[in-house]
Amino acid sequence: MTSSTDVAKILERIEADKVKFVRLQFSDIQGLPKNVAIPAWQTEKALTDGISFDGSSIEGFARIEESDMVLKPDMSTYSLLPWRGSDSPVARFICDVYLPDGTPFEGDPRYILKKTLAEAKEMGFTFNTGPELEFFLFRLDQDGMPTTVSQDKGGYFDLAPADLAEDVRAEIVLALTDMGFEIEASHHEVAESQHEIDFKYGDALKTADNVITFKYATKSIALKNGLNATFMAKPRFGINGSGMHVNASLFKDGKNAFYDPEAPLQLSEMSQQFIAGVLEHVKAITRIANPTVNSYKRLVPGYEAPVYVSWSASNRTALIRVPAPRGSSTRMELRSPDPTCNPYLTFAAILAAGLDGIKKQLDPPAGVNQNIFEMTDDERSKAHIDTLPSDLITANRHLMEDTLICDVLGSHVIDGLNTIAQIEWDSFRTSVHPWEVEHYLTRF
Ligand code: GLN
Ligand code: MG
Ligand code: MG
Ligand code: MG
Repeated sequence: MTSSTDVAKILERIEADKVKFVRLQFSDIQGLPKNVAIPAWQTEKALTDGISFDGSSIEGFARIEESDMVLKPDMSTYSLLPWRGSDSPVARFICDVYLPDGTPFEGDPRYILKKTLAEAKEMGFTFNTGPELEFFLFRLDQDGMPTTVSQDKGGYFDLAPADLAEDVRAEIVLALTDMGFEIEASHHEVAESQHEIDFKYGDALKTADNVITFKYATKSIALKNGLNATFMAKPRFGINGSGMHVNASLFKDGKNAFYDPEAPLQLSEMSQQFIAGVLEHVKAITRIANPTVNSYKRLVPGYEAPVYVSWSASNRTALIRVPAPRGSSTRMELRSPDPTCNPYLTFAAILAAGLDGIKKQLDPPAGVNQNIFEMTDDERSKAHIDTLPSDLITANRHLMEDTLICDVLGSHVIDGLNTIAQIEWDSFRTSVHPWEVEHYLTRF
């Protein structure tokens, strides 16, 4: 609840920070950040009454007849935007979206995650996530337009001079640190011009907010340095794509509920059920976690991205891996999501699937500890290893058929996601791609 002392405190801070403009930020159903800027003197009104806006122009939000919506800032998300400099400081809040009658808007992805977290809370759980975002830094052309031309030739964990982006990465890390992130690691990734910056895991709502902020900060700072940062899943054929591995765990009474020192592999029964639930719903989750036509170009053999539905206590070729640390760091890592996903919906879907596994006391299939890519089709089929959907429209069909995940996201978001998938798939399917011209133009 917004109390007048909280409002007074934030207003004091805005004054002390000499903020000129405040951005009220939220996300559309694709997880793209939207914002409206207000002059600082309007903040009090925004914090107490909210600010009205027209929802009909936002992807997947409202029809024109019922388009009035209200943004209410979440006061705990106040932050300066460090890359805007100190001449006329700009601050932002992440907002929740309401209807004029004061009820939360069903199409607000942040609300959907909050609702799912509240269900977990009723079962006594808090849900923590640790997303690992990978991205490319590409050059701009002479006209300042983005290209897919690499800016360095570095590889995994390389140092300068191969890693020319070291300074840009440092600038991103410093800006995020100023914004309250606890950065745990930052390194060059496997592909040329590819990078990863990892921040500390935490409550799923906070980390979902962080994913949005992370992408926004990274893109802004890259651009200031004459580069385009892209989170597209597979910007170039023949080299690794960018993933957003999601580490996930449940806590109960302040303790990690996935850890049991007495159990085999020290993994609690509950963690096994959670993994089983995620595996059970993973084809529907794929539509959410891999939301673009291009996402499926990443999920192919040979590039450290998962293809097969399996789990393992160590094996990185598995879809779900359980990293080595135990105790409070015990977690599962879902390796399929990519950074084009909407983090609110992705975390909500993973949580709901895992809780379903716990409620139904599902047993996961046997863990696979060999390289799945080196198994023959026959060996995989004998081991009952299924494959992830291979394109957007197939994943979309799995989502539409998964009543649990549909209920979690609600009909508003499901209808919106279905429409987007149909339109994008149709546009892709009917386009003539360079590959086709290259292969057929002269041959026929
Ligand atoms: N880029 C790989 C992916 O697509 C992951 C590589 C790694 O983190 N080791 O998921
Ligand atoms: Mg990593
Ligand atoms: Mg990585
Ligand atoms: Mg990882």
